[in-house]
Amino acid sequence: MAIELPALPYEMDALEPYISAQTLGFHHGKHHQAYVTNANNLTKDTPLENASVEELIIGSVNKADKVALFNNAAQVWNHTFYWNCMKPSGGGTPNGTIAKKIDEDFGGFDAFVQEFKTAATTQFGSGWAWLVLDGAKLKVIKTANADTPMAHGLKALLTVDVWEHAYYLDYQNRRPDYVDTFLKHLVNWDFVNSNL
Ligand code: MN
Repeated sequence: MAIELPALPYEMDALEPYISAQTLGFHHGKHHQAYVTNANNLTKDTPLENASVEELIIGSVNKADKVALFNNAAQVWNHTFYWNCMKPSGGGTPNGTIAKKIDEDFGGFDAFVQEFKTAATTQFGSGWAWLVLDGAKLKVIKTANADTPMAHGLKALLTVDVWEHAYYLDYQNRRPDYVDTFLKHLVNWDFVNSNL
């Protein structure tokens, strides 16, 4: 079966006023959909046409003849993951296991916030900032374009999309404000805990 666009885990206007229904409408309905369509077109009538998104990503990492497939499959996965990283009335300080682990590995929540904001705002051009597990240790990383932690043997726990299409309608060029708002009002820490 071909890859399908997953439904958003909340209503289109559920993240307002922080992310508008207009942004989510374009981002999910046009951008995410285009990655799904492109990946399906690239695998149609090939042995990969029934492969999972994860199989497509892992199977195309660092393969010169599969760059387009990697980019589109990784963007399908990254966006599905990103929607789940947010919820209405989210953000702020975490609880549960992730809270304890952030304290242990970053020396406190504020230090984590600083590191995550720096990664998100210094990613030059399009990409993503991530909280990942590297072995047993938490780490903040940034990736360019479609690149994704699983391509580097890392386990994704949290991400923010810093492609301009993620924030331009609501924040124009103010990426730092978008990232700050993401951390204060949108992060779904329950989802992050469930990834641990
Ligand atoms: Mn995006």
